Amino acid sequence: MKLFKIGVLLVALFGVQLSFSQEQVRSKKEIEKLLTDAGNSFFNLEVDKSLKLSKIALNEAHHLKNDALMAKAYNIIGLNFEEFYDVDKGLNYYNKALKHANLTNNDSIKDWVNNNIGNVYSYRKNDFKTSLKYYKKALYFSEKIKDSIEIMYTRLNICSAYFATNDFKNGVGYLNSVKNFITNGDQLEAKISMCTLYGSYFSYLNDNGKAELFFNQAIELGVQNKNQLLDSYVCDVYNDYSTHYKKNKDFEKALYYLNLHKELKEKVYNEERTKKVKLAGSEIELEELERQINKIEGEKDEQLKDLKESKLIVLLFVIIFFILLLLLYSLYKNNKFRDQSNEELKVANEELKVAKEKAEIASQLKTQFVSTISHELRTPLYGVVGITNIILDEHKELANSPHLNSLKFSARYLLSLVNDLLQINKIEENKITLENMIFNISDEIRTIVDSLEFIAVKNNNKLITKIDASIPEFVIGDKLRLSQVFMNLVSNALKFTKDGEVKIIANLDRIDGTKSFINFQVIDNGVGIAKEDQEKIFEKFVQIERKEGDYQGTGLGLSIVKKLIELFGSKIELESEERKGTTFTFTIGFESDEAKRNEIINNIVVDLSPTNFYRILVVEDNKINQIVTKKILETNNFKCTILDDGYAAIDLLEKEKFDVILMDINMPIINGFETTKLIRKKGYSIPVIALTAFDKQEITEEALASGMNDIIIKPFESARLFQIITNLINKKNID
Ligand code: ADP
Repeated sequence: MKLFKIGVLLVALFGVQLSFSQEQVRSKKEIEKLLTDAGNSFFNLEVDKSLKLSKIALNEAHHLKNDALMAKAYNIIGLNFEEFYDVDKGLNYYNKALKHANLTNNDSIKDWVNNNIGNVYSYRKNDFKTSLKYYKKALYFSEKIKDSIEIMYTRLNICSAYFATNDFKNGVGYLNSVKNFITNGDQLEAKISMCTLYGSYFSYLNDNGKAELFFNQAIELGVQNKNQLLDSYVCDVYNDYSTHYKKNKDFEKALYYLNLHKELKEKVYNEERTKKVKLAGSEIELEELERQINKIEGEKDEQLKDLKESKLIVLLFVIIFFILLLLLYSLYKNNKFRDQSNEELKVANEELKVAKEKAEIASQLKTQFVSTISHELRTPLYGVVGITNIILDEHKELANSPHLNSLKFSARYLLSLVNDLLQINKIEENKITLENMIFNISDEIRTIVDSLEFIAVKNNNKLITKIDASIPEFVIGDKLRLSQVFMNLVSNALKFTKDGEVKIIANLDRIDGTKSFINFQVIDNGVGIAKEDQEKIFEKFVQIERKEGDYQGTGLGLSIVKKLIELFGSKIELESEERKGTTFTFTIGFESDEAKRNEIINNIVVDLSPTNFYRILVVEDNKINQIVTKKILETNNFKCTILDDGYAAIDLLEKEKFDVILMDINMPIINGFETTKLIRKKGYSIPVIALTAFDKQEITEEALASGMNDIIIKPFESARLFQIITNLINKKNID
């Protein structure tokens, strides 16, 4: 026999008639009452009423979305179905009840439903293992809420399940544990159940007396039943009692109780009741189906919504993916393009490198070429100019010879052309560095004016100088380069002016720290330069064609001037108007610091001794140059010995004493450097001066390394040569 759990039996009946209208919205309390009524109806076997009330309660519970009420409603529906119609459907409703119960904190409902499911497995499916699992869960919940009545019912159910498997040993413990509680209590169905279970137990122990006593007691209690459902309990008692007699082979009594069991069963489980449950149940099932459909619809709507959202997401994803793809593609393209450009750049770089190397080689070759050519040209020119001078010197009557003068002029012109070329080449190769010399600007300009006076006279020009008195007396700078600038500018001005005047003006522009900035101007009122030619004239070899006359020049002067002024850190400016004149302006900053100036002055060795009769050894292979040099030296009271070979010179040094050696560099057997090295090796400290047509900067390093003391470049100023000779001899004497 089983004990149903609906949890409503302890709730007092309100007796309030409830309408079955589904539209009415009820409170939780009203639904609870509906469920109480449904429970009571079930116990009175008014199954259709019980189901109708449960149906309304279930609907309302669904409206309120109240899981506890839903669980209770499903539980009662489950009871009706299981008991009177369809066990599996009943189990289905219990499971629904359990699902909702588990969503709540209500352990009572969990306890009832677990008990009822346990009953299905115990009594309908004879699956006691499963039923015990549910009963024990129910026991856990009833013990948790410390509900003695619930604990008692659950234990009875567990005992009954054990007994059904003939496990009386395990079962009787549960029965004994509730015996006192039931005996002292007023739970009629519990009492009937307990007596039946003891009846079965004693029957199992073959204690027939006690067994029959308990069965009879159970029947007695059942007969006083209050609710109709207890008939089903009694029905089960009859069945168990009959089993007992059958076991004891008292078939008469066994048959008697079996008949009683049958009669009562028919009363309780008649067809009419089953039909009612079926009818009322089908309405519930219909509604359940509707709810399910609604739920599915709702889920479908949700899914549709989700689908829409996911469609949107997919769309967005596709767009983003597409954009990413585009980006990736452009990145790839860019990369490819960059790689390609890199490759092209690499190739271009390689080409440039090769071109640069070629250009460097070409430039070196050009420098080499210019240097060689100028050396080769300067040496014979030195001879031509020197010999012309000697002839003019020796034959005073030829002083006015136009041929000789023309020879002298041409040679000088050629020499200046070679010098200009060499210089421009050096500037372009960045080989020129400005030197620091101390000088007086006014003196320098005066020297230039003096040396150009004859051109002024030739063109009937007045040469005027205006020097600002506030310019420091001495400044430090490269006076030779400055003179070169003036020589070019003033000689141009004089060349391109006739019957006019050329002014050289120097003004102190400003003093900045230790530097005095001087503004120079070379002004003429000559032919002037056309606007379109004004830029061109600074380019190399540019000469402007003049109808008026034939001018001498190389076309290099102004480009040298421009470059030299740039070396001074300045810029040349030109203002000119045709037939009105030309003005060149530039400003150069010269160091004018007094301390520096004194330092330089103190370092100048001044030779105050009377000119001595020095013996000079000239080592030179070129015959013409031998004559020229000898002539110059002897004219100035030097005793001169000439040799054309280095080795011969070394031999002679052993026999004769000399004050200075003038050493050519380029000689066939042994060059000047090697000769000097040998001289030094032999321990001679005699000053050796290189006398060469090479460019000074080109050979300085090697000359000094070989032991030479100074360098003089051909053609040279005699005064400069004598000054160097005297200085070196004096220095040697001091040492
Ligand atoms: P060169 O004087 O040897 O011809 P430059 O480079 O010194 O070469 O001068 C280039 C050209 O500039 C000259 O040929 C001349 O036509 C022009 N020029 C230079 N200075 C003057 C000047 N003061 N007046 C007029 N023309 C000038």
